[in-house]
Amino acid sequence: MPHGHPKKPWIERAITSPTVRAGYASLVAHLFICIVLALFFLDGNRPDPVRPLVLQFGPEAAGDALLADVGVDAGDPAAETAAATPPAADAPASEEVPVVAVAEPDAALLDVPGSGAEPFDPAGPPALAVSVRIGGGPAPAAAGSNVAIRTATTGTAAFAARRGKGRTAGARARGGSAASEAAVEAGLAWLARHQAVDGSWQFNLSGCLCDGACRDPGTLTGSTASTAIAILPFLGAGSTHVDGPYQQTVSRGIYYLVSRMQPTPRGGDFCEGTMYGHGVTTLALAEALGMTRDEMLRPYLRDAIRFTETAQDLHGGGWRYLPGQAGDITVTAWQIAALKSAALAGMEVPSPTIEAARRFLDRVQTQGGAAYGYRTPAAKPCTSAIGLLCRMYTGWGSTQEPLQRGITNLAKPGPHPTNIYQNFYLSQALLQLDHPVWPRWNAKNRDQIVAQQARFGHEAGSWFFADHDTAPGGRLAHTALAVLTLEVYYRLLPIYREEAVDSEF
Ligand SMILES: [Zn+2]
Repeated sequence: MPHGHPKKPWIERAITSPTVRAGYASLVAHLFICIVLALFFLDGNRPDPVRPLVLQFGPEAAGDALLADVGVDAGDPAAETAAATPPAADAPASEEVPVVAVAEPDAALLDVPGSGAEPFDPAGPPALAVSVRIGGGPAPAAAGSNVAIRTATTGTAAFAARRGKGRTAGARARGGSAASEAAVEAGLAWLARHQAVDGSWQFNLSGCLCDGACRDPGTLTGSTASTAIAILPFLGAGSTHVDGPYQQTVSRGIYYLVSRMQPTPRGGDFCEGTMYGHGVTTLALAEALGMTRDEMLRPYLRDAIRFTETAQDLHGGGWRYLPGQAGDITVTAWQIAALKSAALAGMEVPSPTIEAARRFLDRVQTQGGAAYGYRTPAAKPCTSAIGLLCRMYTGWGSTQEPLQRGITNLAKPGPHPTNIYQNFYLSQALLQLDHPVWPRWNAKNRDQIVAQQARFGHEAGSWFFADHDTAPGGRLAHTALAVLTLEVYYRLLPIYREEAVDSEF
């Protein structure tokens, strides 16, 4: 025997060895420290606890029984759709592809191309405060009691449906198709190609490489409106100034927007001419804050909300082109959407402002609240769709009789063939309500939008509809609205969520 005592098994020797025991103790202690540190850091990056954000969608089978009554022409858009599908996505024709038609083998076609190449060199300004993503706690309390309820669902979790698998699942479950998702991607690519070198977008398509190659430029001025309306579709598809395949594009756009704020004694002015620009910009900043919790955005948004508040028509409660003017429903709708989104991003929104906005809706409503006019109760379908969605933002529950009656009336003829503005609003309202007509209405709307997307030359991926009312916004505005409409399946913000709609503002 090499040693003077009976040889123990090696494992026993190891266990009883003082050296090894000390090693064990050290190992356990270090593991414990590592776990504690890991928990600490994980907790720091975790979004605040949020309420479940599941959209409630009823059984789709219920829709067919009612469709006979609403006159939505099922049509046969399959051929058109197939023809219009961009070649990059050799997707199958997508007529009425809800839920099961986009089956597993096609799942890849619906996947978000997360590795999409960033079209622009990130030589522009740096991203805003990418590192500041802590907590997303409540904004510092404002003085006074005129502060509405601050909705607790802040943070990225509220927008998770826009990204990755959430986006894919949303598109599949709520009526998107492989072709519509491909159209979204082509639309985003066109928008990115038409960003000006300073990070803005212009309605007249100036300042970018287009140089007249695309027809139907807009005639509106005001670079905040055009930049913000172009940013919204990127946010809707999950790209922010912090992450996503178009991070640099969005970053340069957001940076441009905040650089355009005019500080005034009445708040931060993003108008550049009209309150339309202020409303859309405020909405874009609110969405960016809600998606990223980038605290750098919060002061800008706070100032913007203050300006919205002070620019309201004190008498009638609405907003129009210039601060203080008696309101119209289109400009008012952008302010209401912006305030709602800001509240959901954790900002404080003054209650009197919302109360006054409700008064404006009262003034332009007719048919007991089922229809709405532009500045008076002389209702048209487009203004009615806008008004009803505003009602949902400002507290009407989904079971309100005038809301149900109004939306049902609007959906009866099917989607308008060219009025993208009307379809943009009506699609949100129908889906939010989980209206029985949605599957058929949506299939037609979706496929006609896809079919009208430009497929050739510099215009490829863009839209221009024969719609007189929105023509001044030109190809840029139409493309943004078309993409936003095709994103409705996952873009449905917390603002459109049942819980948020039904709650106090
Ligand atoms: Zn172009």
